[in-house]
Amino acid sequence: MNTVDALRHDVIDVHGLVVRYGASTALDGVSLRVAPGDMVALVGPNGAGKSTLVNTLSGILQPASGSVTVRGRLAQVPEGRQMFGDLSVDDNLRLGAWCLRGRGRARRENRDTSRVYELLPDLVRVRHRKAGGLSGGQQQMVAVGRALMSRPEVIVIDELSLGLAPLVVTDLARHLKRLNREDGTAVLLIEQNARLALDLCDRAYVLEAGRISAEGDSADLAASPEMVRAYLGGPGEGSAPKATGRDIPRTGTVHSQEGS
Ligand code: ATP
Repeated sequence: MNTVDALRHDVIDVHGLVVRYGASTALDGVSLRVAPGDMVALVGPNGAGKSTLVNTLSGILQPASGSVTVRGRLAQVPEGRQMFGDLSVDDNLRLGAWCLRGRGRARRENRDTSRVYELLPDLVRVRHRKAGGLSGGQQQMVAVGRALMSRPEVIVIDELSLGLAPLVVTDLARHLKRLNREDGTAVLLIEQNARLALDLCDRAYVLEAGRISAEGDSADLAASPEMVRAYLGGPGEGSAPKATGRDIPRTGTVHSQEGS
């Protein structure tokens, strides 16, 4: 795949994906796409299959059927951040560039963290501290920065907001938006916090019990009464609670849920 092809086609193209754990089906015919420079959200309740999808995108899990095409480099921000706690922030970031090849000058450029510190300036003052001693929000920034070090076409973030205070999440969201705008990096944001996901991303998919139950422009989905009731906590109620997954929104494109 050359650069021109990568620019023309979706960076993530998932079609009819089925993934099983033994006899149990976790993803049942999931289709989803992310175009270059897109910000796309995947929301859904506990156990919907979000992490299964992430792990299939990164090749950890194999599909039983369907296809997963990733064009260009995909970098993952894993749920729970997975820092090397005894290493400094600087070293954690540099580990993100391990997959880039090069010697001499190219190697030095690959290990250059300056763009990450430019995008995530709060990390500058903690760059020599051990990552294990940082706050949750700082660690999430390191995890995002580490993913950026591989210069990905698309970054997949599994639960950006998990365990973080609302102000910290707002700050992280601002940084992601800037990254997307300035560097054109596509983002697939996997979130239980539907309000955050719909605010931040242009398009969204709703995953329930292994199937896509709704998809469309975030604004359309956010206006759906069912989406509001099931995922957004009602109008004007502030941040989103955990989704119940019981109601399925009927705006955007809504798929039938036979047998679920
Ligand atoms: P959460 O938001 O709680 O992390 P999720 O949407 O990421 O949930 P998954 O972790 O992908 O959901 O799980 C999807 C389904 O697959 C669930 O029913 C879960 O119990 C099941 N599952 C996940 N991992 C395994 C595994 N290793 N072995 C068997 N079943 C699994």
